Amino acid sequence: MHYQGTIFRPPSEADSILLQVTTGCSHNKCTFCGMYKGTRFSIKDDVTLKADIEFAANHCRRQNRLFLCDGDALIIPQERLVGILHSIRKKLPWVNRVGAYANTKSIDRKSPDQLQELRELGLAIAYMGLESGDAVTLKDINKGADPERMIEMGRKIRAAGIKLSITVLLGIAGKQRSTIHARETGRVLTEIDPEFVGALSLMLTPGTPLHTAWIAGDFQLLRPVEVLSELRLMLAETVLTDGYFHANHASNYLPIRARLPGDKAATLLLIDSALQGKISLKPEYMRGL
Ligand code: SF4
Repeated sequence: MHYQGTIFRPPSEADSILLQVTTGCSHNKCTFCGMYKGTRFSIKDDVTLKADIEFAANHCRRQNRLFLCDGDALIIPQERLVGILHSIRKKLPWVNRVGAYANTKSIDRKSPDQLQELRELGLAIAYMGLESGDAVTLKDINKGADPERMIEMGRKIRAAGIKLSITVLLGIAGKQRSTIHARETGRVLTEIDPEFVGALSLMLTPGTPLHTAWIAGDFQLLRPVEVLSELRLMLAETVLTDGYFHANHASNYLPIRARLPGDKAATLLLIDSALQGKISLKPEYMRGL
């Protein structure tokens, strides 16, 4: 495989074939994110993609899921993306799920029919970073979309029959807006009603604007119990028809795996026990991204 730079993928794609179709992120402006800093966004050329699909055809026969890296594969123009999905289907017929990161800009550029076409060609799940449902926080972190836009684009993906996995970021609003962040994120998640929610806890990356703001004293990190309180309120405010709410990422202080609506009450009690000190939290040195 012709990988360029560091390859990132969602935790649930750990066993997938990782096909790098773009480098970097088409947005690359979020203040907390250092994933693709220094990498220019580009779509990889057809010759390289063909060679990588051929490689996967010969060496990845036991992996039935495939993830399109890097940051925002959905931004690829429709004709080319359709061609890539056709090649995957032809050369890797055992692959039964293709996933990709998506953001509001890339979703907006596709018509409902185009998204449907991608779904029919195997794009079964999209991963979207909401981070927060709070308008002020989204603006502060330079996410490039407001909450209503997030709701609109999230619903658009779901309407095409593509499963949606949304990431939210605990602690991203700092101390002052923590409560608003938790409530508004719960509201936006409820409006979108995705199949999966993954809550990560903020870990600052040196070199990012948010890290610089923290050094300057302009941004305050939450203490572990404050992160947990934020998670509790966010979960309490989130109503899903039938979806998973997980906070089991390596960055989290308390692993949570809940299927909503059924597990909600028990999970809130679990968080309460941790807040009362009856369950110990993950020590700082064991957290990671
Ligand atoms: S968080 Fe996502 S959209 Fe924002 S810069 Fe990083 S990869 Fe791009």
